[in-house]
Amino acid sequence: MKAMLLERAGAPLVPTDLPDPQPGANEVLIRVRACGVCRTDLHVVDGELTRPKRPLVLGHEIVGEVIGLGSAVVRFALGDRVGVPWLGWTCGECRYCTSGRENLCDRARFTGYDIDGGYAELTVADERYCFALPAGPSDQAAAPWLCAGLIGYRALKLAGAARRLGIYGFGAAAHVVTQVAIAEGREVYAFTRDGDVAAQTFARALGAVWAGPSSAPPPQELDAALIFAPAGALVPVALRATAKGATVVCGGIHMSDIPAFAYALLWGERVVRSVANLTRADAIEFLPLAARIPIATHTVAYPLAQANEALADLRAGRFSGAAVLVP
Ligand SMILES: [Zn+2]
Ligand SMILES: [Zn+2]
Repeated sequence: MKAMLLERAGAPLVPTDLPDPQPGANEVLIRVRACGVCRTDLHVVDGELTRPKRPLVLGHEIVGEVIGLGSAVVRFALGDRVGVPWLGWTCGECRYCTSGRENLCDRARFTGYDIDGGYAELTVADERYCFALPAGPSDQAAAPWLCAGLIGYRALKLAGAARRLGIYGFGAAAHVVTQVAIAEGREVYAFTRDGDVAAQTFARALGAVWAGPSSAPPPQELDAALIFAPAGALVPVALRATAKGATVVCGGIHMSDIPAFAYALLWGERVVRSVANLTRADAIEFLPLAARIPIATHTVAYPLAQANEALADLRAGRFSGAAVLVP
């Protein structure tokens, strides 16, 4: 099979012919139809996430067709359309796994990090962590739901019943979460890099009641804020924009350092927290919801061989929505 291989941090992915993967007992063999490109992939390429499998096939927003079954597979049949998310395996026995918090499992293994992912023509995945996808969205449209959508949805839940929701960093996750939040009757205030008029226009087109640069105060105090940009400096900025009792959720797996800030910004029962990974229960809630709303995913397709261009365009903010590799 053809794959784009990460050999070492800081170097471009290398087009490589690899032997076709063989499914283990609990695994399905999948022909990849679409694989989203996530900011986490950039953090792996840049060496900010320091312990990837090497060499590695990136990619944890996989939509594909089951074309092979391990001997113990019971949930899927040949020809099924499946989604493969970031959470690739958990131990099932640690204190996190046994208390409904498998996203925090000490021994969790992640797709496109510990396990080869979807920047390839084929992949294998443990069926217990794959999801049947609802009818409706195309493969390309559904791919970003597997991480941007799922993590965004989990972040939104952790924000509580906030009516006025600020979103900092208007990329793939934000464009999905905005649609969920509006469907739930919330107001979205979108914050972008200074001067990013395209992203602000995109946010308004999706229904945001206000869009502007993160340096500007919103017209109303926010009841919660989600930060998807990997910039720690946004934490005090977001706190300053929130009302008493608000939660600020940091949605990225990596963030630059948070600068010191006055306790007065946190006072009034404000909360700062992160969101880590996903549970399978999140996906069982979110995927049917996304199809029901329905979420309109804005995607830009790249051939598999242009994975490096897709990553570069993501880094530079050259598209709205999500990049998706189509083998
Ligand atoms: Zn991701
Ligand atoms: Zn565990």
